[in-house]
Amino acid sequence: MNYAAIARRPELVPSSKFKVYTEKHLDKISQLDILPSQLRDEIRVVAKILPFRVNQYVLDQLIDWDNAETDPMFILTFPQRDMLAPESFNRMAELVRSGADNKAIHALATQLRQQLNPHPAGQMELNVPSLDNEQLSGMQHKYHETVLFFPSQGQVCHSYCTFCFRWAQFVGDKSLRFSSGEVDGLYAYLKRHKEVSDLLLTGGDPMVMKTHHLKYYLEPLLDRSVRHVQTLRIGSKALTYWPHRFVTDDDADDLLRLLERLVKAGKHVAFMAHFNHWRELEAKMTRRAIQRIRATGAEIRCQGPLLANINNDATVWSRMWREQVRLGLIPYYMFVERDTGARRYFEVPLTRALQVYQQAYQSVSGLARTVRGPSMSAAPGKVQVQGVTEINNEKVFLLRFLQARNENWTQQPFFARFDENATWLDDLKPAFGQNQFFFEEEFRQILNERQAFDHLPN
Ligand SMILES: *Cc1c(COP(=O)(O)O)cnc(C)c1O
Ligand code: SF4
Repeated sequence: MNYAAIARRPELVPSSKFKVYTEKHLDKISQLDILPSQLRDEIRVVAKILPFRVNQYVLDQLIDWDNAETDPMFILTFPQRDMLAPESFNRMAELVRSGADNKAIHALATQLRQQLNPHPAGQMELNVPSLDNEQLSGMQHKYHETVLFFPSQGQVCHSYCTFCFRWAQFVGDKSLRFSSGEVDGLYAYLKRHKEVSDLLLTGGDPMVMKTHHLKYYLEPLLDRSVRHVQTLRIGSKALTYWPHRFVTDDDADDLLRLLERLVKAGKHVAFMAHFNHWRELEAKMTRRAIQRIRATGAEIRCQGPLLANINNDATVWSRMWREQVRLGLIPYYMFVERDTGARRYFEVPLTRALQVYQQAYQSVSGLARTVRGPSMSAAPGKVQVQGVTEINNEKVFLLRFLQARNENWTQQPFFARFDENATWLDDLKPAFGQNQFFFEEEFRQILNERQAFDHLPN
């Protein structure tokens, strides 16, 4: 296809090229000057601890600066005071005010980050696959049909989300910097694992990569030896933070040709786009990017967490899902905010998450009801809160696995005592006086075996 035909309209040519600001450059962001000075100071303090990165396009086109304090796009990207416990905030504020040097600030930041559960749900240790006894870094294989790959050039994002569960790697926690720069291990593993139907490229945001890097990782997918890998998924928030990637970047057309080649070769190519608010779907450049991606034959599926202070409102979700369907996108997952980082600011009780999901779901057509949630990505699997009900006079949550470490657990209903304050699976207790959930025994066994396996030659 001639992508020039899906024109780069003149009004879409960006006024500036990609330009990024981090904590060091906060003073250079001119829009901040109109904010109350106290708010500016708070941003400075919190940005010492949580990741901060934003680009000019987000600053100029997405954030509503007249209403910054309640603007979802502002809260999505700028650190807020209440993201830290008051004590942590005060300690850092004090240190910054005292004119302490970088070393002292860095030391306190490291200490305070430890209180924010930087390593949630055993992602890294538990799910790293091995080949001939060799651990394959930069990969995760948790659910048997899907392998995750973290290309080393894709471990940042065009901007950072303040709620990101991968935040620790963005502030330099090397133990979490989890990536691979080589494809041989990946494809050797895929060749051996015929049960794998999906390859999921993730990050960071793999769309920060140049097309020639993407080619290097993706062209081997065209080989007959991995024809069982039917689907390529790409996790990305570039449609929000840098839609130019698909429209006006120098290698945008090459990128689309690459996607089209994969589609023509019979692969299902799915963009797993991350959206939190319908506002993200309004930008002209985003609309253009969506049209261009869809013209390649790739699908765009949408997922994102439910967040206090950003989208804790059923009408925000229903409007977002309707808008997605209108633009030809497919609503896919609504997640529960994970138990890490700035969760104290974003977390929502499970009972509230369910209410938002149900109310939003009730008001959209069947085409938007492809979305499943609220779902917790926990160590045993993705657990969906399906409902609250009463059985034998006990108020309970009805739960099920959408994905599970053992596929036999998937879809089995189970029950937890209702708890209006619970925000995560760990807070839940089994209902009906049972002392554990049906999967717990087996889960412990899997963990033990896995540890034994890691130490044994096989
Ligand atoms: C969510 C997830 C997947 C994909 O699950 P689907 O339900 O197939 O979308 C794969 N691996 C991990 C580790 C995940 O968290
Ligand atoms: S785009 Fe995704 S990976 Fe990047 S900061 Fe946001 S949530 Fe995290």
